Amino acid sequence: MGTTYSAKFVARSLTADQFWNLQLAIDEWLKGVDAAMSTYKADSELSRFNKHDSTEPFPVTQGVLKVFLLAQQVSEASDGAFDITVGPLVNSWGFGPEGEPETMPDERRLDELRRHVGFTNIAIDSASSSLVKRDPLVVADLSAIAKGYAVDGLADLLVARDFTDFLVEVGGELRSSGEKPDRMPWVVGVEAPLPGARILYATMELRGEAVATSGDYRNFWDADGDRYSHIIDPRTGRPLPYVGAAVTVIHERAALADAWATAMTVLGPVEGAALAERLDLGVIFVQQSESGITETRTRALRDRRLESVR
Ligand code: FAD
Repeated sequence: MGTTYSAKFVARSLTADQFWNLQLAIDEWLKGVDAAMSTYKADSELSRFNKHDSTEPFPVTQGVLKVFLLAQQVSEASDGAFDITVGPLVNSWGFGPEGEPETMPDERRLDELRRHVGFTNIAIDSASSSLVKRDPLVVADLSAIAKGYAVDGLADLLVARDFTDFLVEVGGELRSSGEKPDRMPWVVGVEAPLPGARILYATMELRGEAVATSGDYRNFWDADGDRYSHIIDPRTGRPLPYVGAAVTVIHERAALADAWATAMTVLGPVEGAALAERLDLGVIFVQQSESGITETRTRALRDRRLESVR
């Protein structure tokens, strides 16, 4: 997935065979998610769906179906701030598998691309495990949810082997369970939204939840005095204007934490926090401002110990 993973778990006894079996199962699971959901692999299930320019049903495996259902849930609840059909916009702004474009898309090109963007252009038929394109030219990009889904799968894999205490992670999206060997809670870092450096803003204890972060400070590029971030606002078809923002979401499931982190980045600390309060979502917005770094935390995380490391 163009990134790394880690799985830390507490094993009271574990033979070498058991360890290697687990390692194999983890690798197989992650390779399976990549083979199904990558837009970087021309023969992945998702790439084949994207090339299927027809309104005939396209059968998909249970994993892909699940991720589409979860994505649809977040798209509906965020009123389209999260939208997996932004793929063509992601590519034309230079953040997809095709790399940086020679020229930025002009208004005409954006209008053309936006005509095929919209999560309602894909119907999901759970009964037959298939996807139906209402617009044959719509394509999907699962980059903002599939890593979280992979993390949930890692957690399921450990639970199935009776591990109760673990911290698993793919590309920075995490899920915790139980405690560390010293009976202390798992602690994760909340990054400061500072480009070019990995600086911690705070540390936070987890209570068996998943955590995901999105932002505009890591994946961006500069041109003609403007900074373009990889998060696209589906309402404008444009990358979010850079402000220096990191949004961390806590959820039971990593796939939903992952998707909501992107949605909340699009919505920002005012509109996003208001929606998060209505949905009782745990979200921390950390943003650069003239007076330094400001933090907005939703009610669901008010009693959470967040230790500043600055
Ligand atoms: P997130 O905030 O989690 O996601 C941002 C990404 O979501 C954007 O880059 C864009 O693709 C998409 N997006 C933008 N705006 C929206 C929106 N409004 N709604 C929904 N989605 C949006 N990278 C490689 O370099 N090489 C690879 O081989 C490779 N393979 C991958 C395979 C898979 C299965 C996946 C899931 C990703 C892969 N990636 C690969 C992509 C890479 O890991 C991405 O940079 C990453 O998924 C983006 O995650 P993030 O945590 O940085 O940002």
